[in-house]
Amino acid sequence: MTDEDPPPAAPPFRAGFVAMVGRPNVGKSTLVNQVVGQKVAIVSDKPQTTRNRILAVVNRPRGQLVLFDTPGIHKPMHRMNERMLDSAVRSIGQVDVALWVADVTESYGPGDRHVRDLLKQSGRKVVLALNKIDAIPKPKILPIIEQYRHLLDFADVVPVSALTGENVDVLTSRLLAHLPEGAPLYPEDFLTDLPERFFVAEMVREKILRMTRDELPYSTGVVVDSFQEGPDIVRIEASIFVERDTQKAIVIGKGGSMLKAIGTAARHDIEAFLEAKVFLGLFVKVREKWREDAATLEQMGLGEHRRE
Ligand code: GDP
Ligand code: MG
Repeated sequence: MTDEDPPPAAPPFRAGFVAMVGRPNVGKSTLVNQVVGQKVAIVSDKPQTTRNRILAVVNRPRGQLVLFDTPGIHKPMHRMNERMLDSAVRSIGQVDVALWVADVTESYGPGDRHVRDLLKQSGRKVVLALNKIDAIPKPKILPIIEQYRHLLDFADVVPVSALTGENVDVLTSRLLAHLPEGAPLYPEDFLTDLPERFFVAEMVREKILRMTRDELPYSTGVVVDSFQEGPDIVRIEASIFVERDTQKAIVIGKGGSMLKAIGTAARHDIEAFLEAKVFLGLFVKVREKWREDAATLEQMGLGEHRRE
């Protein structure tokens, strides 16, 4: 016992909002799932899967990250895409840090440039995650980092693999380091602010996209019509909207086989998510131009960004 050194000061707790930005299919949803450690954002090998932004709360001993998984950013082509763009811009404007996710397996293109311009406009701190490093040889990573570094004044550039989890913890701690000091924004057991219905719809939609492969357009939508929690079972009924009879036939399949497979796979995920036994009733409905139907958009959580 000699000097009375004070104990080293604990690093300050940090908390703040992070928007994930990046063109479709770069791995944003996969990254959210990896960071959060639970399936909250749906993953698909088709672009534009994530229509709504998903808020997830990541708790670490040194801080709390509130993550927005913004929809894929691209040039507006029809109404829904404008809404998506709107929501992305709004997300970026409200956060402490923007997390730009880019794909190292694809060369930098117009879609990325669009994201970069948007981020520059936003004036936010930007952390760049160069994703999918598992898919390229290691020596190729450095030149790609160099190439991106010239595009923006990044707060950090972190190569990661959302698929394998490589370097994702480094990314998380770099993000935390850029957040303001402060108390947690949400209770620790808070996972997301989106209602369970939304997750149920997303899980069904994910199965449809995955199982029908390229036969269905992105226009397929799912709306949960009823959600009743009983003592032993949660009874859920949902409508699947397609635009044509031929698409309805694809979703139903021979003798109902496809719909049955979709239902079974979705039910497994929903049961794991809700931690309850689930009865899932699925109904396929043809509604031409359902995307233009404001009421349907409203039910799917897209109504808040209406501009007209
Ligand atoms: P999002 O549209 O940006 O949300 O992208 P997703 O998370 O849906 O991922 C799109 C596709 O890329 C899926 O097939 C993922 O499995 C794949 N993917 C995502 N992250 C990685 C990664 O780190 N490495 C590899 N090899 N594939 C990935
Ligand atoms: Mg996604």
